[in-house]
Amino acid sequence: MTNPCEGANLRSTSRRNLLKLALWTTATVSVSGCPSPKDTRQGQHGNPSDEALDVVATTGMIADMVRSIGGNAVRLTQLIPAGVDPHLYKPIRDDIVAIVHAKIVFYNGLKLEGRMSDVLGSRPKSDRLHVALSDALTSDDFIGEPMSDQVDPHIWMDVSLWSKTVGLIEQSLSARLPTHQARFQEAAEKLREQLAQLDRYGQESIERIPKKQRVLISSHDAFQYFGRRYGLRVEGVQGISTASEAGLQRIPQLIEIVSENSVPAVFKESSVAGKMIDAVIEGAASRSIKLQVGQELYSDALGPAGSHADNYLGMMKHNFDAVSQALSGQP
Ligand SMILES: [Zn+2]
Repeated sequence: MTNPCEGANLRSTSRRNLLKLALWTTATVSVSGCPSPKDTRQGQHGNPSDEALDVVATTGMIADMVRSIGGNAVRLTQLIPAGVDPHLYKPIRDDIVAIVHAKIVFYNGLKLEGRMSDVLGSRPKSDRLHVALSDALTSDDFIGEPMSDQVDPHIWMDVSLWSKTVGLIEQSLSARLPTHQARFQEAAEKLREQLAQLDRYGQESIERIPKKQRVLISSHDAFQYFGRRYGLRVEGVQGISTASEAGLQRIPQLIEIVSENSVPAVFKESSVAGKMIDAVIEGAASRSIKLQVGQELYSDALGPAGSHADNYLGMMKHNFDAVSQALSGQP
């Protein structure tokens, strides 16, 4: 007799081979009852308690916040692994099972999780919640046109905006686990303080770059919120989704911007192919402009497990440091 878990695991494994298998953590028991390779790390908060709530988060940035606030009161499943592009991520069967079984599903919204929008936006059963963190923000917070499909979804790139979503996570968890409310509030307060500190660190880091050189050129337009908050002009080769076609006409435009502003470096992103950035560097070289490549930025996904960027605070600190060093012209 065949093991019903076997097929799911084989499919998962072959897919994950394509999705940087090495970044994955060891198997745990998923809500479907089959061993799942999904990241259910509990971090410094220990293993989930027996009565823990089944919670799903789409991206690593969201999972990290839920983990910080929920601790071992939640049994967390992160759907989109480290290093994987959320715009293009297509849910597998295990993901759908996890979403259907979860008491709370936290997602970004604003069509970041493009291929999961239908299932995430669907109305869950009455005892379950689907929570879009972008619902914690108001129209003034958004970049783009709130009444259209053109709102930029990369809200975590402004730490002060991301901090506004902490309350929504805390309230959603408290609604399902009211006996833990005081504990969630305390953890949320601590997280807000850490985020405020990180936000100040970001401002100080970017202020060190000579004004004219505060131009961030990267693979796709993930950094508009980052630029607005910390004072940089941001130019991506692709638009706000990696699903959009990169226009070849962008390359000469970007080289012109580099030349006019003496921009010393451009950036690749961990979750996006870097060949268009290579094209910018080659194009600049053909005009005798030497462009450095800064350290790879973490735009739409955390760094690999065990790295300094495997959590939201570390990811953003890495980005602040990488941008401030490279655009200041430091090696
Ligand atoms: Zn993106």
